[in-house]
Amino acid sequence: MKVERNKACLACGNEKNNTTFVAQEKMLGLGGSFEYLNCDACKSIQLVDIPADMDAYYPSNYYAFGNLVESHGLMNVVKKLRKTLFDRNLWVFGYPEYYKWLAPIEIEKDASIADIGCGNGQLVYELKWAGFKNLYGFDPYLPEEKSMEGLRLERKDVYKVSGQYDLVMLHHSFEHMENPVQVMEKLNTILKKGGKLLIRVPVTDAEVWKQEKTDWFQIDAPRHFFIPSKNAMKILGEKCGLKLTQVIFDSNEFQFIITDMYKNNQPMIGNNPNKSVNRETRVKLQQKAKILNATDQGDQACFYFEKA
Ligand SMILES: [Zn+2]
Repeated sequence: MKVERNKACLACGNEKNNTTFVAQEKMLGLGGSFEYLNCDACKSIQLVDIPADMDAYYPSNYYAFGNLVESHGLMNVVKKLRKTLFDRNLWVFGYPEYYKWLAPIEIEKDASIADIGCGNGQLVYELKWAGFKNLYGFDPYLPEEKSMEGLRLERKDVYKVSGQYDLVMLHHSFEHMENPVQVMEKLNTILKKGGKLLIRVPVTDAEVWKQEKTDWFQIDAPRHFFIPSKNAMKILGEKCGLKLTQVIFDSNEFQFIITDMYKNNQPMIGNNPNKSVNRETRVKLQQKAKILNATDQGDQACFYFEKA
C-alpha cells in the first residue's frame, strides 16, 4: 500500500499546520537534501520521499552489521551466572545495558522472544548465554542465516515474520521502517495474547532536537523514515490494540557528542565519538542525559506495550 507521506502524519493523521524541513546525510558525510514533514499535532517527523535505492546509505561497514562476536567456554559460564545473580539482586559489578531494558518485563527463560531488525543478532546471542532458550532474530539485511541451540537468525523483514511470541523487541529498527501503523498492526499479529512488546526508538520530545534541529544525530537522514514523539507511540498503540504500559527514557551522552560532531561537519565514519571528548566532559554529559531522561526530554526511549 502506497502511503502519502507529504501531507498527513503517519501516526495521528493530522494534516493541519504541518511544516517541513530539510536534513542532510551526516553519518557518512554524503550530504544530499532530504525533506521531512513535522506533524503539528503529535510532533512526529517523517521522511517525505524515500530514496529508491537505500543500499548506498547502508555501507558494508554499517555498525549494526559487523560480525556477530561469539563467546566461548568460561565467558559463557560467566554470562549465565551474571544474569542469574543480577535477577536475584546479588550482582554488584558492571552489567550489559540490555539488562536495564528487560528489567521491567517479567519473562521466563523458556519464553519465545523475537528481535525484529536484529542487525547481526548480537543481542539475541547474548540472551542465549544469559539463559534464554527460545530466541529468534529477524533482519532483512542479515549477513548470514544461522541456527544454534535455542537461537535462530533469519533474513526477513517484519512482514515476513510468522509465529507468535511472548516478547517482541525492536531496538532502534522501528524508525527505519516506512509505515508505523502497518508495522504495529503486524507486531500485534505475532504477539501471543498477553504478550509484551518493547520498542526502543529516538523521540522528538528530545531537548537536543529542539535546540540543535537538523544537527541532531538521531534524525539520521535518510535512514530514519519516521521518528515518533512519546505521544505518537501511545496513539499508535491504541490504533493497533496494544496498550502502552510504561515509558523509560534511556538516552545517553552521545546525543550531545555526535550532534556536536555533525555541527562541526565531522561524519561518524572516520571519527570515533568515544574519543572525541575527555573523561571529565563525558561524565558531565552523562549526568546531563540523566536529568533529561528524568523529565522525558532525552532523545530516545523504551516503550513497553502489552497485547490485550
Ligand atoms: Zn501526528
